[in-house]
Amino acid sequence: MSFNNLLSTIPPATRILEPLKVPSKLLMGPGPSNMRESIMDDVKAGLQYLFQTNNELTFAVSGSGHAGMECAVMNLLEPGETVLVVQTGIWGQRVADLVDRLGGRVQTLNVEAGKAATLEMFSKAMEDCKPAVVFVCQGESSTGVAQPLEDFGDVCHKNGTLLLVDAVASIGCVPLQMDALDIDCVYAATQKVLGAPPGLAMISFSERAVQKMRTRKTRVPSFYLDAFELANYWGCSNEPRRYHHTAPISLVYALREALSEIANEGLEQCLLRHRQCADFLYSKLEEIGLKPYVKEKSVRLPGLTTIELPPNVEFKLIIDKLMSQGIEISGGLGPTVGKVWRIGTFGVNADKEKILKTVHALDEALKTVHNKDV
Ligand code: PMP
Repeated sequence: MSFNNLLSTIPPATRILEPLKVPSKLLMGPGPSNMRESIMDDVKAGLQYLFQTNNELTFAVSGSGHAGMECAVMNLLEPGETVLVVQTGIWGQRVADLVDRLGGRVQTLNVEAGKAATLEMFSKAMEDCKPAVVFVCQGESSTGVAQPLEDFGDVCHKNGTLLLVDAVASIGCVPLQMDALDIDCVYAATQKVLGAPPGLAMISFSERAVQKMRTRKTRVPSFYLDAFELANYWGCSNEPRRYHHTAPISLVYALREALSEIANEGLEQCLLRHRQCADFLYSKLEEIGLKPYVKEKSVRLPGLTTIELPPNVEFKLIIDKLMSQGIEISGGLGPTVGKVWRIGTFGVNADKEKILKTVHALDEALKTVHNKDV
């Protein structure tokens, strides 16, 4: 992953740099309390900065990261169309399952776990299947790989294909300039780098994606996740806002504050902090004899590090030992089950003291725990 291009071209709007203002309002309706439009506008501005996009259709979906995924796929895809899934881990599998449920066809570019797809592999797969949509996970949290996206947009658009990117585990820790990378749809979630409570998925659609959505032959199979309905609710269309659903207002406030924090820190600084903390973690792990699972350093995901299990160590015992001290680390997921530990350094946990504490606890646990063969 190249960090040469950390420069953000889209500055944060003043409104998201400012503290939250909560005006008092007389709420006379049947309730629950109506959502104030200014908060939604703040969130939209914060998301445009976070995603580095000027896309009008930029908002939050009520639901966790999966809701973002479902919203993206449901709106971009029509039954019978093909999705090329760049499968680097569990999230490609999840999207493939979703596409199948929606009556789409799935073509898969299988990438060895712990590696990223190359542009050559991707271009070749594109020639072979000419899909309507391509799915790529930028931060593959099951393997700890950060998928480079440079030129993927070009390859897609030459073929009339839309590029969909999962940035749940990468937004804020890996550069993602949505407009500059020509991405058509990005979704992310609140609970990783933003450190906000789970329950909202942030999403943005390009003009190209909007065109395709406008000319759909079939209706979006979900009202709740219909992007144009949501866009109206979020004030992204020129029409007056209509009630769509009851959004979880407390989560919207929390997201607003998390976006304000990142805007005040500055996206570049946030990216750099995650990068530096990941490098610090690698060096500390090496000192205690542990090796990263992802061999190619340039494609390691800064917010989530996968670590090879040393021989003869019962990984679960180590996890339990750390948990008993109030430190959570995790085992593998999908293709890495039983092969790795995963350490997250997202958001405020991209912090050298917290990393030192975790690695120290890991070292102590490894020294004391019984080997499974003993
Ligand atoms: N994509 C990625 C890359 C993720 O890491 C996750 C959650 N770990 C998701 C999607 C799904 O998000 P959620 O659990 O919030 O539904």
